[in-house]
Amino acid sequence: MVRLTFYGGINEIGGNKILLEDGGRKLLLDFGFPYKRHKEFYEEYLKPRAGAGLLDPLRMGLLPPLEGLYRKDLEAQNIWEQFRDKPAYRQLDHLDGVLLSHAHLDHSGHIAFLREDIPVYSTATTAFIAKAIQDSGKSDFDQQVCYFDYKKPGVPAGWKQGALLTTDKKQQRQFCIADADLAALSEEAFRFWLKSPGQKPLTPCPLSAHSSCSFNLCCFPVDHSIPGACAWGIETSAGWIIYSGDLRLHGKQGNLTTKFMEEAGKLNPRALILEGTNVNRTENTYEHDVHENGLKAIKDAKGLVIADFPPRDVYRLLTFLDIARETGRNLAILPRDAYLLKTMRLLDTEIPDIAQEPNLVIYQDTIASLRLWARNLCKDYGSKMIVAKDVHSAQDNFILCFSFFDINELPSIQPVEGSLYVFSSSEPHDEEQEIDFGRLHRWLDLFKFSKHGLPVEIKASPKEKSTWEIPEAETGLHASGHACGKDLLDIARQIKTEILIPVHSEHPEFYAENLADTDIEVMFPNPLGTLEI
Ligand SMILES: [Zn+2]
Repeated sequence: MVRLTFYGGINEIGGNKILLEDGGRKLLLDFGFPYKRHKEFYEEYLKPRAGAGLLDPLRMGLLPPLEGLYRKDLEAQNIWEQFRDKPAYRQLDHLDGVLLSHAHLDHSGHIAFLREDIPVYSTATTAFIAKAIQDSGKSDFDQQVCYFDYKKPGVPAGWKQGALLTTDKKQQRQFCIADADLAALSEEAFRFWLKSPGQKPLTPCPLSAHSSCSFNLCCFPVDHSIPGACAWGIETSAGWIIYSGDLRLHGKQGNLTTKFMEEAGKLNPRALILEGTNVNRTENTYEHDVHENGLKAIKDAKGLVIADFPPRDVYRLLTFLDIARETGRNLAILPRDAYLLKTMRLLDTEIPDIAQEPNLVIYQDTIASLRLWARNLCKDYGSKMIVAKDVHSAQDNFILCFSFFDINELPSIQPVEGSLYVFSSSEPHDEEQEIDFGRLHRWLDLFKFSKHGLPVEIKASPKEKSTWEIPEAETGLHASGHACGKDLLDIARQIKTEILIPVHSEHPEFYAENLADTDIEVMFPNPLGTLEI
């Protein structure tokens, strides 16, 4: 008998944390950051206290109370005493590993808390993107997926109360690569993996192959809005269990998902754990529609063009690079996106080389000091770096890739009246911060932008809460990272699973309603609940 316990991802989009137990063998399927629950208690200036280690995330229900699973350096003394009588509490001394589906933080973020000797299984691209995100991101202690700062108990000078203090020691995690021949990786790729982006020393942990896991595993590459995504197959004593991660059929790499359906179907799986983000959508916008609609919106634009699309969606970045070529503009990307492209090119030579690509430049935003990774980027691509005054003096030449959170650059750029803002993103749950559309409209109005594809406020009456909708004539500028309802049903039918378990969905009942004419049994786990198979 196999037990599946759902510590996250039930009746919510994201935060997947699934424990699979088969006798003494145990695996986690993703260990994501629970954005929904986090937002119920915290906001930008109210965060779990880094100095309290595991206490805040455990007490607020952001992490499951599984003693033995987490980093020892985050355990303040006697921390477990207050959790031992909680119903979800368990002692969990051994774990074979985490199967990571992709590098979106709602699937990967809480790996940061796990014991460092627990291996993470992923594709090479997912491992490299996770490291690029961490290298170039804020060093929030709960987002340290690939390496982390050790803490030690201490009392800051002059203070009375002790806390867990950050030390100089950085520990890298063990990543086991499922899909690539490690011997074929370049020396530069290995150097990237083992190098700390800052001055602090890193206790390195080289990449290894995934073959040492006590389960027989299958890694199926699938298409999603971030490269490197995969689904997993796990051979258990109850038969094969398939975990979809996040996927779609309508993206540029949709053929990968089709192949996954065929291959997973051949295993005659006992159970399929399937995402259901977009079950209520009836049709998809394709990436080539985004290209066509984006080109239409931008081709006659005067002045500056800003393209706003989800972070780490490299496929969308390449779509706008094509549009830039076709409209005779340069695509200006931020240093963090340039770092991501540079990293991906270590594994995939189809990714453009920034140095060689005539229509690609890097916009250096206005910051007080450059961190080491950004300084290195300037060294590598010096002639490609531009700043606000370069954009200001030749606004017709650029498509600037900004998100809402970069809009504070506008006072330096001084865009000409009638510049264009193209919104190519519509999935707030996919983004790691929620966009405040009201605030974005005010910025764009102040700088006299014309807007395309940006949701506008719909308010039935002054008392009602407003909703935001993209005007009908301006839709078709975003291809979702998730399959629509019909495609998800095709996936379930073709894989011919005996049991289907919906996750990552606010409407899991969709599957029971629409698969009633098949032999597929749909099982609904409760949050923190266990299913036996
Ligand atoms: Zn995702």
